[in-house]
Amino acid sequence: MSTVERQSWDVVVVGAGGAGLRAAIEARERGLRTAVVCKSLFGKAHTVMAEGGIAAAMGNVNAGDGWQVHFRDTLRGGKFLNHPRMAELHAREAPDRVWELETWGALFDRTKDGRISQRNFGGHEYPRLAHVGDRTGLELIRTLQQRVVALQQEDFKESGDHEARLKVFQECTVTRVLKEDAADQGSRVAGVFCYERESGRFFAIDAPSVVLATGGIGKSFKVTSNSWEYTGDGHALALLAGAPLVNMEFVQFHPTGMVWPPSVKGILVTESVRGDGGVLRNSEGRRFMFDYIPEVFREQYAKDEAEADRWYTDPDNNRRPPELLPRDEVARAINAEVKAGRGSPHGGVFLDVSTRLPAAEIERRLPSMHHQFKQLADVDITKEPMEVGPTCHYVMGGVDVDPDTAAATGVPGLFAAGEVAGGMHGSNRLGGNSLSDLLVFGRRAGLHAAELAAALTAGERPQADEAQLAAAEAEAVRPFAPPVDEGADAAPENPYAIHQELQQAMNDLVGIIRRESEMTEALTRLAALRRRAERAAVEGHRQYNPGWHLALDLRNMLLVSECVARAARERTESRGGHTRDDHPGMDRAWRRVNLLCRLDDSQGADGGAVRLERRDLPAIRPDLLDLFDDDELAKYLTEEEVKDR
Ligand code: FAD
Repeated sequence: MSTVERQSWDVVVVGAGGAGLRAAIEARERGLRTAVVCKSLFGKAHTVMAEGGIAAAMGNVNAGDGWQVHFRDTLRGGKFLNHPRMAELHAREAPDRVWELETWGALFDRTKDGRISQRNFGGHEYPRLAHVGDRTGLELIRTLQQRVVALQQEDFKESGDHEARLKVFQECTVTRVLKEDAADQGSRVAGVFCYERESGRFFAIDAPSVVLATGGIGKSFKVTSNSWEYTGDGHALALLAGAPLVNMEFVQFHPTGMVWPPSVKGILVTESVRGDGGVLRNSEGRRFMFDYIPEVFREQYAKDEAEADRWYTDPDNNRRPPELLPRDEVARAINAEVKAGRGSPHGGVFLDVSTRLPAAEIERRLPSMHHQFKQLADVDITKEPMEVGPTCHYVMGGVDVDPDTAAATGVPGLFAAGEVAGGMHGSNRLGGNSLSDLLVFGRRAGLHAAELAAALTAGERPQADEAQLAAAEAEAVRPFAPPVDEGADAAPENPYAIHQELQQAMNDLVGIIRRESEMTEALTRLAALRRRAERAAVEGHRQYNPGWHLALDLRNMLLVSECVARAARERTESRGGHTRDDHPGMDRAWRRVNLLCRLDDSQGADGGAVRLERRDLPAIRPDLLDLFDDDELAKYLTEEEVKDR
């Protein structure tokens, strides 16, 4: 019999970034008792770091914009692997979500005539990113938090209890999704198992709806823009609960992270620098992106520097600069320049805005970047170029969900939204499309989670048995006394050493450029690391013990890394965030293939825990296909799809 404390809520949201808060607000507004559990402090989600803006086709700066253009850009960016329904919903609903933020108190930068200003970003045909300088995520989170507090104040007036219908459990980690029947992969969700990070106290929340909104996986890689929270928890929780992950081979390496000094390597340099006029140059001073415009994009990008520069003031009569190609293209180009020996002194290339905008304008538009480089690298970006290189930034892959309801495939009661969900961005996400994704699908997840819970009577609610809580508790305390046998290869393991080896393996073998032999090697190493992680040992007790937290996170990072490596080895083409040295071209035959990852311990050969399944991506509706020229479609669609048109 477990002694773990249990409490009962209608909806549990795991994560308090943009997706989680938007889901929680929706569920609470529908009258459901909603609990939010987040591993960091309330307000310190990853969303707060978002810089450039939120993409929504409001047409404030160029009236030519509309949801159809946004949909088209999103599909082009994702190389037509996006779930078409998700991309459609996202493009249609993003403007409403931004206007809604404004009604909740968000203060966006304005155009001269007082509308929400929108800036240029890679892959977006028109200026589309609503922004607050380069601190957009901060304003987004501040606004959502303010909305949470407003709802809590309403509840206080009604019941005398601020937390009667919306409560945040901050600095608490969820380690398991509980089920009605733990042995049945398809059984209903019954809640979550958690621990308080500060005290180590365990508790469980019983609830028929669980929304995963835990963000990404970047901490599995050595060079990343992501913070400590991004250990793929939601991805792993879904897998362990029986839900598949989709598109895991697609990991976005943002082209511009800091490369110097080493202590800050990977920290993001926002795409707004290029959106606002910044250009990339190699050590010879050449604006090299003109050499890397791929055939599929040639028509849409400027042919020379003169045209590219004219575009900033006359976008209707000129084409975009190639610095604003989708991120995967720019990251590969930088990688190639460095490899060819034309890099900057510290292994990146130069990003220069100092010769493109007056100093005061740089400080006004890019205050965080100005501050970041001055403080961290002693570089004044109003006077000299930055050194930048690719950094692991975002995962396109995630929980396989129903586009309309955000329900996870095959596990009733489980929902996912935000970076932890897959499908929306296809093989490559456009900048700005994450913040809009969080709000569009966060709202939908909250809505449908609420509807599911509201439809059940008390007697119909699923309940996890005590044995599940006891098993979750035993799993969580294992690092204090791991099962250790006699012999050198069965000794206790240091979680920090395992984490370092994992990051190195993912960086070297499943990074920006991939090949089959290296990924096979990665799978072997990951299986060995997984065995070692079972013996990860920590000293001390459960209070304030970061080593223990890491030992628990390792399970998640290793599972998710295996999904990335296994799916990446299987996909024998290059597309978006997945580049194969041994299969350099995009292969139309792969256009409709989704790879699903499922947990399956019977995968003997390389000791893995994940099985792959192939599934066809749904067809794109004819009215949506009509948004593209036939010539362009012929570059992407399979032979049959082209024939059937
Ligand atoms: P997050 O905001 O990361 O929230 C995840 C939440 O889950 C956190 O509260 C965390 O504590 C919690 N959590 C995780 N695991 C657990 C667990 N086991 N138990 C309990 N809680 C857990 N996108 C754009 O569209 N525009 C931009 O300008 C932009 N700029 C960016 C700049 C940077 C530096 C970075 C890193 C990303 C940027 N992105 C941008 C991407 C975007 O910020 C993220 O994709 C997005 O914020 C993810 O939001 P989320 O709600 O899914 O997750």
